[in-house]
Amino acid sequence: MVDTHCHLFLEDYPDIDDVINRMGNNIMVVSGFDDASNKEVLELCSRYPNVYGTLGIHPENVDEPYDLDFIREHINDDKIVAVGEIGLDYHYTKDNIGEQISLFSKQIEIALEFNKPIVVHSRDAINDTYDIIKKYNIGSKCLIHCFSSSLEMGREFVKLGCKLGIGGVLTFKNSSKLKEVVSGIDLSNLVLETDSPYMTPEPFRGKRNEPYNVFYVAQKISDIKCINIDDVLKITSKNAFDLFDFR
Ligand SMILES: [Zn+2]
Repeated sequence: MVDTHCHLFLEDYPDIDDVINRMGNNIMVVSGFDDASNKEVLELCSRYPNVYGTLGIHPENVDEPYDLDFIREHINDDKIVAVGEIGLDYHYTKDNIGEQISLFSKQIEIALEFNKPIVVHSRDAINDTYDIIKKYNIGSKCLIHCFSSSLEMGREFVKLGCKLGIGGVLTFKNSSKLKEVVSGIDLSNLVLETDSPYMTPEPFRGKRNEPYNVFYVAQKISDIKCINIDDVLKITSKNAFDLFDFR
């Protein structure tokens, strides 16, 4: 199995060796979100054979100083598989939409220049996210992480070629919208993720999340789609390998 999106940084994981060991040989993709975490991603990739990374500036960090040149310099480093976590977040403020769109666009341009996929965060901004991905024609190399919009929108993203990241929210009682998405969209378009340390699935909701818990997301998908758990793990892993170059 592959955890396609997590944030395993020392601040939350003083026991990081144990957390990564619990994944055995399974792959996890650690996503940077600001200058400091991007540097940590490079370190983690060099220290652990089954950790891969993405470099990016998250929209919530748009008002802080950030270094896109660092991303350009390191995007072709060993085991760096994508530009991310990038995107749009209008949840807390809509005052900086222009800056967010500009930062998102610049990072997509880096991905296109270096022929890398993107890992996209989108909160309360699904229409703008869609328009930008469509405009840049980068859908076939795009993961919408922690997809949280409607089945209808999910289908539109899939038409562009995007993969949808499914995480712990699926296991929550009040997640009927996401269950509809999982039920209505073919497994060939879905990948697993934890978004650790956030979004911990049941039965551990409320505790710190970790990549191994991606198994519980797979189990829920297996229940909803009536597909054997081994096939869920196999097909979602294949999807992740299709999207990311895990050399
Ligand atoms: Zn994330």
